[in-house]
Amino acid sequence: MNYEHIFEQAIERLHSEGRYRVFIDILRNKGAYPNARCFAGHNGPKPITVWCSNDYLSMGQHPKVIEAMEEALHDVGAGSGGTRNIGGNTHYHIELEQELADLHGKEGALLFTSGYVSNDATLSTLAKLLPGCVIFSDELNHASMIAGIRNSGCEKKVWRHNDLEHLEELLAATDPNLPKLVAFESVYSMDGDIAPIHAICDLAEKYNALTYIDEVHAVGMYGPRGGGITDRDEAAHRINIIEGTLGKAFGVMGGYIAADQKVIDCIRSYAPGFIFTTSLSPVLVAGVLASVKHLKSSSAEREAQQHSAATLKQMFRDAGLPVMNSTTHIVPLMVGDPVKAKKISDILLAEYGAYVQPINFPTVPRGTERLRFTPGPTHTEAMMRSLTDALVEIWERLEMRLAA
Ligand SMILES: *Cc1c(COP(=O)(O)O)cnc(C)c1O
Repeated sequence: MNYEHIFEQAIERLHSEGRYRVFIDILRNKGAYPNARCFAGHNGPKPITVWCSNDYLSMGQHPKVIEAMEEALHDVGAGSGGTRNIGGNTHYHIELEQELADLHGKEGALLFTSGYVSNDATLSTLAKLLPGCVIFSDELNHASMIAGIRNSGCEKKVWRHNDLEHLEELLAATDPNLPKLVAFESVYSMDGDIAPIHAICDLAEKYNALTYIDEVHAVGMYGPRGGGITDRDEAAHRINIIEGTLGKAFGVMGGYIAADQKVIDCIRSYAPGFIFTTSLSPVLVAGVLASVKHLKSSSAEREAQQHSAATLKQMFRDAGLPVMNSTTHIVPLMVGDPVKAKKISDILLAEYGAYVQPINFPTVPRGTERLRFTPGPTHTEAMMRSLTDALVEIWERLEMRLAA
C-alpha cells in the first residue's frame, strides 16, 4: 500500500479540475476596513481591498466590541478553562444566551463553538430523540446541516431549492404518524436569494412537522433588531429552532440555537458537540455581547450595507457584468468555470489589489463557479467604481461575454 501516492493523486485530481484551493495570507487593518495587507509576494505586505469578508457590517472592528473584549481579557483572562458542565460556564455565556433568546423572541438559547457545530450537533441530536424521524432538507442547505442530518442517521428527503410544491409532494408522501423536521436556510449565501418562510411554515403546520432555520447570513443584518429574516417577516414564532452564527455579521466567533426551553434543555443534555468541548473564550463572548446589543438598537450599519450592495449590483449590471439575481446583500457574479473564476480572482489581486476569493465545487455545484462580493458599510462608491472598471477590463482581456 503506497499511502503517499494515494494522497498525491487526491491532490492531483483537484489541480486537474482547476479547483485546488489556495488560501491568501492577509491582515485586516483595524479601523480602516476594507483595507488590509496581503503577504503574497516577497516584497513585504501589499495594500489590498477586501471584497469577500463575511464580517458584513465590520463589527469585528467596532470600538464597542474591541473595548468589551479588552475589558474581559483583563478581568477574567484568555480562556474559559473547561466545558460548560465542568468549570467553563461563565457569566458572559449566560448573559449572551439570554440576549440571543430575546433577539429571536424565544424562551432560551444555547451557544456552540461555531455555526457549523451548532447545525451538526443540533440536527443530529434532535432527530435521534425523535424515533423514525424524517428530515426534509432544501437541496442548497449548507454542508453543516447536511452533516448533522447525515449524523442523525434519519431518513432524509431533499426538496428542490425553495420549491414549495416539491416540498408538499414529499411531505404528503410520508407516513402521517412519523415525526418530521423541515430544515432550511433564510438567506442562501451563494445565490443571495431568500426562502419563502411563511409558506414553508404553512406546510409544516399542515403536515405537523417541526421547523429548523439557518439564519447565519441574516442575523445582525435583517429585521428591526437584527433578528434575521424571521425578524423582518415576523415569522420567528412559527419556527421551532432558529440557528445563527456569531462569526459573520456579529463579527467575532461562535454559533447558537434559539428555541423553546425544553428543546434547549434536550440539546444541552444530549448533544456531544455541545457537551464534550471547551466552551467559547469569555473574551469572544464579551465581544459578541457588545455586538449583538449594539445591532439590536442601531440600524445604521444594516442600512449602509443594503445601500452598498444595491449600488454595486447596479454598477455591475450597467457594465454588462453577469450579476446573479440576488435579492439580498450578496452580490454574486456568475463565471461558470473554475479555471476562469480563479484566473479573474488572481488578476484582481495581483494587478488591482482587489481581493475576492473564487467560489468553486463543492461550495457551489460544478459549472456554476462564481465570484461572490460582499460590500459593506465602509466600501465607498469610488472603490466600487474601480472594481467595476477592473472587472470589465479583465472580462474583455479573457474574451468573456459582457451583456450589451
Ligand atoms: C458559514 C455558515 C455556517 C457555519 O457558521 P460558522 O460560524 O462559520 O461555523 C452555517 N450555515 C451557513 C449557511 C453558513 O454559510
